[in-house]
Amino acid sequence: MRIGYGFDSHEFQPGIPLRIGGIALAHDHGLGGHSDGDVLLHAITDALLGAVAAPDIGALFPPSDPKWKGADSVVFLREALKRVRDAGYAVANIDARLILAAPKIGPHAGAIRRRVAQLLDIDLNCVGLKAKTPEGLNTENTAIAHVVVLLAETKTARRRKKIRG
Ligand SMILES: [Zn+2]
Repeated sequence: MRIGYGFDSHEFQPGIPLRIGGIALAHDHGLGGHSDGDVLLHAITDALLGAVAAPDIGALFPPSDPKWKGADSVVFLREALKRVRDAGYAVANIDARLILAAPKIGPHAGAIRRRVAQLLDIDLNCVGLKAKTPEGLNTENTAIAHVVVLLAETKTARRRKKIRG
């Protein structure tokens, strides 16, 4: 088993699309910064990379590289997932926490969980998602994501190890 932890934050900016967990949410502000600003997919990506001791998202996809400007964060997640699989692991489950003042995540939680489950190729009941408002944090203009992920060694990897002794 392996455990991974990911954290990310992005600032809200007016007039840009909002994407969280690979889903477009209707809102008057979006998340600026690196790529499409998908704070949840970035935290999941970093959790996956951390679990296999790979370099983090900023090292693999530098924000300074114009190539990643406005990029679909699914690309980052897929690369992290590939590294997890190459290391002989599969995702067992993830648990995520979003902290943001608006919009309300509740009505979109089902869609976000379904999309994340699909991207990670795991069952819906293996994707935990909770959201809260930033009480006392003074981060009203920021979206924050914390993610933990558990990886399990695949049968093929176990078999290979056994043969090698
Ligand atoms: Zn990010």
